[in-house]
Amino acid sequence: MVYENPDGVRIGLEVHVQLNKLNTKLFCGCSTNYHDSEPNTHVCPVCLGLPGSLPVINEKAVEFAIKIGLALNCNIVEQTQFHRKNYYYPDLPKGFQTTQYDFPIAGEGKIVIEGEDGERVIRITRAHMEEDPGRLQHMGSIDKSKGTLINYNRSGMTLIEIVSEPDMRSPKEARRYLDKLRSILDYLDVFDGDLEGAMRVDANVSVYMGERVEVKNISSFKGAERALLYEIMRQKNHIRRGGEITLETRHFDEARGVTLSMRTKETENDYRYFPEPDLVPLRVADWVPEVLKTLPELPDAKRDRFIKEYGIIDMHARALTTEIKVANFYEEVASKVDPKAAAVWVADILKGELNYRDLNVDAFTVEDIVSVIELVTSNKITEQSGVEIIRAVLDNGGKPQDIVKEKGLLKVEDDIVAKAVEEAIAENPEAVADYRAGKEKSLNFIVGKVMQKTKGRADAREAREKLLAKLDE
Ligand code: ZN
Ligand code: MN
Repeated sequence: MVYENPDGVRIGLEVHVQLNKLNTKLFCGCSTNYHDSEPNTHVCPVCLGLPGSLPVINEKAVEFAIKIGLALNCNIVEQTQFHRKNYYYPDLPKGFQTTQYDFPIAGEGKIVIEGEDGERVIRITRAHMEEDPGRLQHMGSIDKSKGTLINYNRSGMTLIEIVSEPDMRSPKEARRYLDKLRSILDYLDVFDGDLEGAMRVDANVSVYMGERVEVKNISSFKGAERALLYEIMRQKNHIRRGGEITLETRHFDEARGVTLSMRTKETENDYRYFPEPDLVPLRVADWVPEVLKTLPELPDAKRDRFIKEYGIIDMHARALTTEIKVANFYEEVASKVDPKAAAVWVADILKGELNYRDLNVDAFTVEDIVSVIELVTSNKITEQSGVEIIRAVLDNGGKPQDIVKEKGLLKVEDDIVAKAVEEAIAENPEAVADYRAGKEKSLNFIVGKVMQKTKGRADAREAREKLLAKLDE
């Protein structure tokens, strides 16, 4: 299938990733562990931007940034330099954001995604370090708010801004890009993606290869897809009515699912970038070999290895390698039972039950899933009972072996099934006659009777086979 892009949709994404796994902020010693704290309790003169305070760079933050750059297949710059990006906003009390400008720490990388028509390479323009501003909290909705509160706990947190080329051609591709990016960052163990504000997305969107519009304030991946769908439709309708698309910045209103015009886009000149005199340039090239050694096996490589090493299908390998926790969980299970059976049980069944309950893989133990798989593969319980046990463990706790006893899930002995088959045939002569006369449906009726007699503890497929054998005698 060849995916055409007749509307010339181009989407580029700017993703701000908060490195909340660092212990301290980017330029001061304040703790990053503020997410459950009272407002304005994780602050100091540096991150409050008080006059006379001086920044000191967080070495670990630079290391994380290099690691991210390498994982995104970027070139790491020889020497980086921080700049001041000047603008006034209450969440930024210094009056400028300390960021990187002409020497971003990483440039020219790529991410491979599953595109609309097979694998696609999305180019990464750059990844640079900068500080997070504070957080404004409007009292009520942004347009009707009577007042605004400011929380500076977030001020000075380390951000990596990852900028892509406009290589995505649909909201779905954008979503896949974001999922892949999150997966890679998850592997690098540089952030906890579940924390509020861990990944924030701005999008550049254009249609018919025209001017681009920037959409800001997208707070979730689902939101990104919705915002993009809306914005593409809006631009097309506008052009259809004879309008023209001009450079502008729009705000995504998540509640209403629409984008609203904010301002014409500022240009770089408006920011009066100049080198940060309080921070010396950093020669980072020398760090690269050491950081390279700490780079883990990444999702694509792990997926390929799972396929080769465990002989599992691509679909399972993908599902098992998106999250590092799930990948590790699977490998532990696969070391104890048949890896192919393990893939089905972990990727298809367990993950499905976890997703349904909004839980992650920590909610289940390797030991318990191994027990379930062993019970099924040794033919002691049916597959359906295996699923039932997983649900019971998740909903009420308990051990699979105990649940088997409590619920009486052990499969009935062969001879009991055989007896039930004989009885079912003897007691339902009409159905037997119908089946022999060619009515396939009657067979299901008799299978149902066998299941009833064994209280559902016979394997339906086996019961069916036994019944067929008997009827064809
Ligand atoms: Zn501070
Ligand atoms: Mn930024």
